[in-house]
Amino acid sequence: MKALVLSEYKKLDLVEVAKPQPSEEELLIKIQACGICGSDVHGYDGSTGRRLPPIVMGHEAAGIIEAVGTAVSDFRRGQRVTFDSTVFCGKCFFCHRGQVNLCNRREVIGVSTPGFRRMGAFAEYVTVPARIAYTLPDNLPFSHAALIEAVSVAVHAVSLSGLELEDTVVVVGAGMIALQAARTAGAGKVYVIDQDDTRLELARSLGASEVLNSRDRAVVDAILGLTNGRGVDAALECVGVAASVEMAVESVRKGGAVTLVGNISPTIEIGLQSIVTRQIRLQGSCASSGEYPTCISLMSRGAIRVDPLLSVVAPLEEGAAWFRRLHDREPGLMKVVLQP
Ligand SMILES: [Zn+2]
Ligand SMILES: [Zn+2]
Repeated sequence: MKALVLSEYKKLDLVEVAKPQPSEEELLIKIQACGICGSDVHGYDGSTGRRLPPIVMGHEAAGIIEAVGTAVSDFRRGQRVTFDSTVFCGKCFFCHRGQVNLCNRREVIGVSTPGFRRMGAFAEYVTVPARIAYTLPDNLPFSHAALIEAVSVAVHAVSLSGLELEDTVVVVGAGMIALQAARTAGAGKVYVIDQDDTRLELARSLGASEVLNSRDRAVVDAILGLTNGRGVDAALECVGVAASVEMAVESVRKGGAVTLVGNISPTIEIGLQSIVTRQIRLQGSCASSGEYPTCISLMSRGAIRVDPLLSVVAPLEEGAAWFRRLHDREPGLMKVVLQP
């Protein structure tokens, strides 16, 4: 089969490799669409150390079941499916609590570290454990289903934020899906902060009550102005650098919650007194744990739309070129989905 292999950092080759065989608890899936994740682009140049070559990347995928392992009873050949990017063990302390994203033996499809290597979906076929797969409704195209992981991250973050009906929310950094997830969860007003006017316009069209460009406005003052000087009930921080986290913290009201999703900077300095004396809750959010069926349903009924984020659907053969363009941060280029 064909596979796009990261042979060395910044070098992707489309090569012929052996077709994988499903073990007894696995599915063999014929990939129909696989999204290039930001984490793949950061792994591609070696900056994260989580894509040790050689590796087939790709964990945001959907396809058709080609074969099922002998111990798999609830799937059959021909079904349209997607799968979680996280492979959890199902046996550890955290898995037993339902926090599968925190599994002690967590592995990620299409990721290689010194501890594990899992071949991903920038290939004609991939094998995954049946326990992380979900069937897709017919009205959800494969190219949209390939964005479910991104939706699940946002839905998980919103579920941890403690949002209540009619709460005011600020989304810091192009969180188009976080914005829609907050709306769906019952937020009254959602304000979106970003540095890119194109993305802010998109946010407006997806239901943002107000959009604010942090390049040309004192956004914290603006948020306070929009909330009678009080601040919003909750902030969703989708960037993860010192300035954006500070914006989120200073935009919430006393007793409010800041949910941290972005983590571009491994460490930042933070205004401790403002958090302690205003009793702000800081909540980290990692991947998702069990939100896939909810996300499939939200996307199927149009409550969360991913089509406006989809820039290109291209053949796998063009994968190397699209990785380069994403790595070069081509303006306006958002989600790229590859089709083997
Ligand atoms: Zn991803
Ligand atoms: Zn586990």
